[in-house]
Order: sequence, then structure tokens, then C-alpha cells
Amino acid sequence: MRVLGIETSCDETAAAVVERDDQGHGHILSNVVLSQIDEHAPYGGVVPEIAARAHVEVLDRLIGQALHEAQITLDDVDAVAATAGPGLIGGLIVGLMTGKAIAMASQKPFYAINHLEGHALTPRLTDRIDFPYLLLLVSGGHTQMVLVKGLGDYERLGTTIDDALGEAFDKTAKLLGLPYPGGPEVEKAALLGDPSRFTLPRPLKGEERLDFSFSGLKTAVRQLATALEPLSQIDVNDICAAFQTAVADTLDDRVSRSLQRFRASFPDVKKPALVVAGGVAANKVLRDGLQRLCSDNGFRFIAPPMALCTDNAAMIAWAGAERAGLTPADSLDVAPRSRWPLDMHSTPLIGAGR
Ligand code: ATP
Ligand code: MG
Ligand code: FE
Repeated sequence: MRVLGIETSCDETAAAVVERDDQGHGHILSNVVLSQIDEHAPYGGVVPEIAARAHVEVLDRLIGQALHEAQITLDDVDAVAATAGPGLIGGLIVGLMTGKAIAMASQKPFYAINHLEGHALTPRLTDRIDFPYLLLLVSGGHTQMVLVKGLGDYERLGTTIDDALGEAFDKTAKLLGLPYPGGPEVEKAALLGDPSRFTLPRPLKGEERLDFSFSGLKTAVRQLATALEPLSQIDVNDICAAFQTAVADTLDDRVSRSLQRFRASFPDVKKPALVVAGGVAANKVLRDGLQRLCSDNGFRFIAPPMALCTDNAAMIAWAGAERAGLTPADSLDVAPRSRWPLDMHSTPLIGAGR
């Protein structure tokens, strides 16, 4: 079965074709992503109106390109899947309406996909892993620890109570006069800095609940930056190093508790896995820390290739392909949802929770 996927929930316009073979294995036939970073950079963050317009301008062409690169025509597609939420409503409308229109005109089944489910199922496409597993999603808009029990069976163990982690990197960068997106800039500066010159808070460290919090960290950076004004390059590097160390330490605490929770819930799983997704997963220091934590705790650490960790349409097509064999197609009445928690998929289809 071949699925055409469409993703427009944030600042990437994306189209892809994914095939699911008779053994249930996935094959990416094409995966086209156009990032709008340059359009949003002058504003230091994603501007919803600009994002929606940019999706409208390029989506048709990208879909054509995805079919062309997959060396197929629309006739060879068995189903269409588009992100229906969560995300910026203007962008969601563009992708969802386009997906529905293609499905209707070509009389193919249509699947309205939760963007977070796309991230959650990616390791099954890239690494063919079995349920259940843990997912740490750390992007510009989300910071969540999710227990992926089965298809359609997700339990959010923890989430950020304020800023997303990528957002904290971006805001920290902005406070220090570094360009957008801030994550890679902070990482680069941190490499040159001294992490021991300043000590920043570790929010929620030691607490039983599995949530995250990053706004206090950002406030501490602001206070430090104000106190040191005017900032030298060395100050910037040292603050970035302190920030990244505090983040790594916080993640270590939050994630190790989640690993323990997983063990307690699934004592019979022999080789449990932690998967990361989201743009922040590009950070080498954080990635290495998670890798170490996993090997210390007997977990496999899975980081899909970066192009599939950040927003893309292959994950949306794949989520559609996984659902296609098990659920009837969605109605073309389905509406976009700016908020759509992953646990609202409450019907387990396959997997451990069934
Ligand atoms: P969504 O939250 O809807 O998935 P998004 O576009 O905000 O979408 P991504 O594209 O997955 O998220 O990731 C972008 C975020 O990742 C930005 O906040 C960026 O600063 C952060 N990021 C990218 N590279 C790094 C890095 N090396 N270190 C830390 N953060 C990074
Ligand atoms: Mg993005
Ligand atoms: Fe995403």
C-alpha cells in the first residue's frame, strides 16, 4: 500500500510517498520538505500568517515533486494522509483541505493524522521496532514523554508546564543576541564556553511527576544577561554552556524517572527502547547524555535520522499507512484542530495495551 502524506502544521511544508509492504515494513519512496526558516528569521520565531501563506504558495508543487521523485502518479497511490493537528490553524487548513480535495477527486481513502502520532510512529518506519516503547519529543512546539503502547494507544507521561525545550533554546539565543533558530547557535557557543562559571536552575529536578519546565531557566538567563550587560563573546559562550548543562542535567533526571516508570509498567519487555524526536534531538551534548542514560539502564536508544526527527511528511504518510489496514478511512468532514492531545486516540488498535 502506498500513501501520499502532507504536513503543514508549523513552518515546514512537506509531502512524501511511503510504501508499507506485506510484512508491514515501511519504505520511503520520496520525502520533500521545504523549511520556511528564512521567512520567519527576521521576526525571531514562527509568524502564523506568514506560515499559512507560504504553505499555500508551495504545497501543490511539493506534492507534484513528491510523486515525481517516487516515480509514480496519483493513480498509484492507495490512500492520502494529511496532518489535521495540533499546530497553527492556518497552515493546518491548507494541508488538510488539499489532502481532502486530492482524496475526493481521486476517490482514495483519506486519513486525518495527529502530528504527534506521526512523530511517535517514526521509529517503526526507520527501525521497525515493536510496541511498547518510550518517546521523548523535544521540538520548538512540544516537550513530551509519551508511552507508546500500541497503534492508537498513547499515554502522555509528562509534558512541559510552560515553554517547550526548543522554544527555551530559541528564547535564550534571542536574549543573548544570537540569530533564529537559536538551538544550533546556543550549541555552537556552548562548545566554546566554560560551563562552570555560572550555575543555572534545574527546574523540577527530583520531583516525582514526569513533567518539564523551562521558563524559569530562561528567566535566569535573562537576569544573568542583564547583570553582565554589555555582554562579551566570552560571557555569551559561558551562559550558553551553563544553559546547555542545566538542560542536560534536567533531562537526565526527568528521563531516568521515565525509564523506571516504563520498567515498572512493562517488566516483561526484554529490550526496552527510548526514541527521541524533534529538532532539539539534533543537539549532540543532549543526545550523548540520553545515549549514556539508556545504556546505563539497559535501554536501547533510538534516534531516527535527523530529517525524520524534525517535521516531515513521511511520518504522516507512515501513520496513515499503519492505520489504513486497521481503521476505516476518516470522513471528509474532519476539521483541523489547533490542540489535539495524543492521548485522545483512546482506541488501541494493535500493541501492548490491547
Ligand atoms: P513542532 O513543535 O510542531 O514539531 P517545530 O518546527 O517547532 O515544530 P522542529 O522543526 O522539530 O520543531 O525543531 C525546531 C526546534 O529545534 C527549534 O526550536 C530549534 O531551536 C531546535 N533545535 C534545532 N537544532 C538544535 C540544536 N542543535 N540544539 C538545540 N535545539 C535545537
Ligand atoms: Mg520546524
Ligand atoms: Fe513536529
